[in-house]
Amino acid sequence: MQGDLKTIVEPKKDERCSELQPKWQGERLGLYVHVPFCATACDFCAFYQVQSDRSGVLNYLDGIRREVERISAPQSLDTCFFGGGTPGLLTAGDLETLCQGVTEGIGSPSMEWTVEMAPSTVKADKLKVLKEQGVTRISMGVQSFDDDLLVSLGRQHSRKQVFKAYDLVRNAGFDSVNLDLIFAIPGQDESRLRRDVAEAAALAPDHLSTYCLTFEEDTALYAKLAQGIHRIDRDHEASLYEASWKAMADRGYAQYEVSNFSIPGKRCFHNINTWRMEQWIGLGPSAASQYQGERYANVPDLEKWLEGIARGAPERIERLSLNRGQLLEDALVFGLRMNEGVDLDHLQRRFGVELATHQREGLEQLEREEKIERSGEIVRVTDAGRRVVDAIGAFLIS
Ligand code: SF4
Repeated sequence: MQGDLKTIVEPKKDERCSELQPKWQGERLGLYVHVPFCATACDFCAFYQVQSDRSGVLNYLDGIRREVERISAPQSLDTCFFGGGTPGLLTAGDLETLCQGVTEGIGSPSMEWTVEMAPSTVKADKLKVLKEQGVTRISMGVQSFDDDLLVSLGRQHSRKQVFKAYDLVRNAGFDSVNLDLIFAIPGQDESRLRRDVAEAAALAPDHLSTYCLTFEEDTALYAKLAQGIHRIDRDHEASLYEASWKAMADRGYAQYEVSNFSIPGKRCFHNINTWRMEQWIGLGPSAASQYQGERYANVPDLEKWLEGIARGAPERIERLSLNRGQLLEDALVFGLRMNEGVDLDHLQRRFGVELATHQREGLEQLEREEKIERSGEIVRVTDAGRRVVDAIGAFLIS
């Protein structure tokens, strides 16, 4: 399988444009498996995660196996992504069980298979199992190379562990590696950010993601914000955004989405598929799906999720029937996050509906404000637009 994966190249744009059916009639299919276990909660984290004993892990693995068995997909998997939580917290044997549950239940992904690993959890035996099972890509949540900043984020690893983990990943033969960085950490100025990017780039990963720190409710960081220990400085965030983009470009990483950069041929297909509003199935507590005309999420609670599995189906929340107009709108908004932009003609033919009046007029206004640029039917955000891409999305939806 590995040989096949290496030869797969991203389809040319005109090939994608021939995909004219609505998504639920079947095109790209991704699988996301949420592994909800963490050793402790990081101060900034709002993902669903739990600290669990051994029986909780074993019940979870059995639950995933049973949830996979319920999938009756009429098409094969293109991508797979194990995220969390901390998938790397599982033992080598557990990872093998999890991988086999997927491959035996629904098959191996044909394009890409990513597993997230926190640096402190990376071990040679786990990597060996993942490689043998067909995993193609490792994503490490480095966040920073600065020990003081790591402490302020409540992370469990040190700068030294990042280097050790990276070597283990490369020595295990993975030729597609992503490193996540966070910027706008309290105490981080532009020179510290540039140092982080330089240290990351010096390792020569294939892909880098840089996320602006957000203060999510119910996190330790948010509590510090509420106590006045931290404060939000949007101008500082904006200048660090731009500094990170420039630092990435200087190091040879091409931006293809607001927060994502890669060397040629190493973009993350799984995420691209979601930004393009393809289909994905989420497994595990809190995992979200967009599949066969519906969008929903599994209940974000390990026990409740297990109870649902025992009854025959996981409890689902935020269930929404999708229509073509919604899918077009989401494909427009998320497509604009990507540097390639969107082809309006393609979107309308693909979903079989016209752009709404407010979307057309909105795009015209954004063009006058020089936040987007048009070339025929291709629309992209400008550099100025990229700085406010979330606001652009909200504006086009309203
Ligand atoms: S950031 Fe990752 S490792 Fe930290 S608590 Fe959240 S899911 Fe767990």
